[in-house]
Amino acid sequence: MIARIAKIAGTVLSSALALLTFNFMAAAQAKPAADLIVTNARIWTADKTRPQAEALAVVGERIVAVGSAADVDAWHGPQTKVLDAHGKLLLPGFNDSHVHFVDGGAHLQEVQLKDADTPQEFARRIGERVKTTPKGEWITGGDWDEQKWSPPNLPTKELIDSLTPDTPVAVNRYDGHEILVNSVVLRLANITAKTTDPPGGQIVRDEQGNPTGVLRDAAQDLANKVMPPMTPARRMRAIYKAMEHAASLGVTSVQDMNPSYDDVKAYAELQDRGELTARIYVAPLETGWRDQAKIGVRRAFGTPLLRMGAVKGYADGSLGSETAYFFDPFTDDPKSHGLLSDEMHPPSAMQARLKGADAAGLQLCVHAIGDRGISMILDIFEQIEKANGKRDRRWRIEHSQHMAAKDFARYARLRVIASVQPYHAIDDGRWAEKRIGADRVKRTYAFRTFLDNGVRLAFGTDWSVAPLSPMWTIYAAVTRATLDGKNPEGWVPEQKLTVAEAVEAYTMGSAYAEFQDKDKGSITPGKLADFVVLRDDIFKIPSAAIKNVKVEATYLAGKLVFGGLE
Ligand SMILES: [Zn+2]
Repeated sequence: MIARIAKIAGTVLSSALALLTFNFMAAAQAKPAADLIVTNARIWTADKTRPQAEALAVVGERIVAVGSAADVDAWHGPQTKVLDAHGKLLLPGFNDSHVHFVDGGAHLQEVQLKDADTPQEFARRIGERVKTTPKGEWITGGDWDEQKWSPPNLPTKELIDSLTPDTPVAVNRYDGHEILVNSVVLRLANITAKTTDPPGGQIVRDEQGNPTGVLRDAAQDLANKVMPPMTPARRMRAIYKAMEHAASLGVTSVQDMNPSYDDVKAYAELQDRGELTARIYVAPLETGWRDQAKIGVRRAFGTPLLRMGAVKGYADGSLGSETAYFFDPFTDDPKSHGLLSDEMHPPSAMQARLKGADAAGLQLCVHAIGDRGISMILDIFEQIEKANGKRDRRWRIEHSQHMAAKDFARYARLRVIASVQPYHAIDDGRWAEKRIGADRVKRTYAFRTFLDNGVRLAFGTDWSVAPLSPMWTIYAAVTRATLDGKNPEGWVPEQKLTVAEAVEAYTMGSAYAEFQDKDKGSITPGKLADFVVLRDDIFKIPSAAIKNVKVEATYLAGKLVFGGLE
């Protein structure tokens, strides 16, 4: 159940003027009454000066009082709406420091085939999908798994061709290594019996040599090349879906990594219409840093709802695909150290761009996963600090997964934020030791060691790569129980965090990582009234149950965006 609010805020200018007027009036007259009071809550504030409270009051978009029910009752006026939280846990709204928001929303909207457990059901769902797919749009996504079928044969175009005479279909296997396309796409891409397999890919064929519709690995590009870019209407639908999903999970702020400029434009349009129900900080790809720099945009430039002024780069790949870049070779592939990204060829070019972006006042966020990839980015950061001088920069290394022992102290010295996604730990933890061995595993997803070294953590998910759910993320950080159930006491258990540390990283930590810790991240008078009420108290229930906890209500700027308190 989603109650999307019609208007959260007008333009920055009008709200700034309103605030000025309001402050003036407040000074001249009696204290204004609260618009909203939430009482009888167990508030965990994430504010060290007052960690716990019972009630809060909101005027306009901001919190004005936090304390006991009696303290807050002083703000009660004739128009004040009072909500009873029935003793439930109230936290600052979650701030996901690393998402791919449009991808995530698009994924939610795509046809779901993962649990289609017969070929007939697979075909039926695609047939249903055709009815709601606008002309010209493709049917994509799916995550099908033929291993659930008996016999487990790969699907073929014949299964869906008659249902999709005019609609292009390219649906992926859940592991991303294969797609099934229909005849419409084969025609568009000009794939025939005569087409040769591209390097690193395979066009699956029948006994006569005709394509069956399955394209494997690099052969998928033959279809992707002819796929039209996302239409503006589809992008908008994806963002609505993403916002609805975020609100349902108590996520009130997201930091969108490498969005396209079209995505940013869509967010701006939604802000104008008063329809943004999540605050968004965007970090487009670093190769385009001059676009922001040339008009003087600096870190965290914008409004409380939509900000820019950061850039996102890539140092290397991922552990799963064996492309994270390491000092020592992979344990299970002694010939390979992984790969640096295109942007790092050569590293001096990356350094020159990041240095330019930094000099322009932009915030740097760099994806680095392998210990050597991370180390090389720290080297670059050191050089930039030398060249551009010391400043409060809040550099971020996205993922910060596999650390060289010597580099924890460098994070601290350069005040680099470890922007991490704990869900990846319980996912990769199933097989990571085979790939990198027992020694490196000790410094993998090393959240405790970061904190011990005085390094700031920001929590996120990397959605849609991992679920957007804060409850799964906190569960992962607190239990480190791998998804296969094989480590109930925790994988590398010495790196577990407490619930309080996990919540801090997800609220104040992420707010700090986007230069917004004075404005949000805790339940503190003067800050934006973004908060979430949970059905169960994650500080009190067994940690294994945290992943199942549901959100009772989500508030953004004092307005309900999901659920509700009666
Ligand atoms: Zn990512």
